[in-house]
Amino acid sequence: MSGERFTVRFWGVRGSIACAGPETLRYGGNTSSLEVRCGERLVLFDAGTGIRYLGNHLLREAPIDADLYLTHTHFDHVGGLPFFRPLYQPENTFRLWAGHLGTRISLRQVLWQFMMAPLFPVPPEVFRANVSYHDFRAGETLHAPGGITLRTIPLNHPDNATGYRLEFAGRSLCYLTDTEHVPGAPDRNILGLIAGADLVIYDCMYTDDEWANGHVGWGHSTWQEAVRLCRAAGARRLVVFHHDPDHDDDMLDAIAKDVEAQLPGSILAREGLELSL
Ligand SMILES: [Zn+2]
Ligand SMILES: [Zn+2]
Repeated sequence: MSGERFTVRFWGVRGSIACAGPETLRYGGNTSSLEVRCGERLVLFDAGTGIRYLGNHLLREAPIDADLYLTHTHFDHVGGLPFFRPLYQPENTFRLWAGHLGTRISLRQVLWQFMMAPLFPVPPEVFRANVSYHDFRAGETLHAPGGITLRTIPLNHPDNATGYRLEFAGRSLCYLTDTEHVPGAPDRNILGLIAGADLVIYDCMYTDDEWANGHVGWGHSTWQEAVRLCRAAGARRLVVFHHDPDHDDDMLDAIAKDVEAQLPGSILAREGLELSL
């Protein structure tokens, strides 16, 4: 089992809104989208604008049977969904999951409202794949085909969000975005989730200085908090993720140096990056 493929590829790494331009070329301007391969299984996280490119890449793999786990349904995490072309291939099957909505509204209802006139020209009925919508409560443990387990926790974010720890073949990947920290009081749910993890992808929208100066209460965290959490929990490798659209490539290069100095082996997520666990 331990030799089985377990990889994550980043198709969108940006927070809040896509930002195309010469100043974001190297790290990329698309919002959250991850492709995870566990042996023969395909697992997707979030459906930001990056998922459009992932979809074009996947077209030749039909028939596809995959699970798509959403951290939450803010635009930067679902906006790419209608442009994910595998949803229009009838031979494909996708199970969409969300754990942040509580009992008042379902994932299906939220996506129906999002793809609704006059905000959007076509409703989700246009999807030709076999698409199903699944609600759970953050904190539950989920199981996907192929021996994949997902532990989940609630995150500290406006309208809520879900953090995931995917375990496969004895290795673990954690995906934690979007979430805000409390200085001096590390999130116990997060510490428990990332304990001993091989890879931790974390919301590093701001620096500590930026967060303290005008962004408290916005629902995001910092690379410094990520370092503190990973150290405290004995996590092996940090991936800095959900970059602020105002952070250009040069600034992200500078952050990469700072993170490396604090927690050697850490890396900044960029579009096209693939990591093996
Ligand atoms: Zn976000
Ligand atoms: Zn959000």
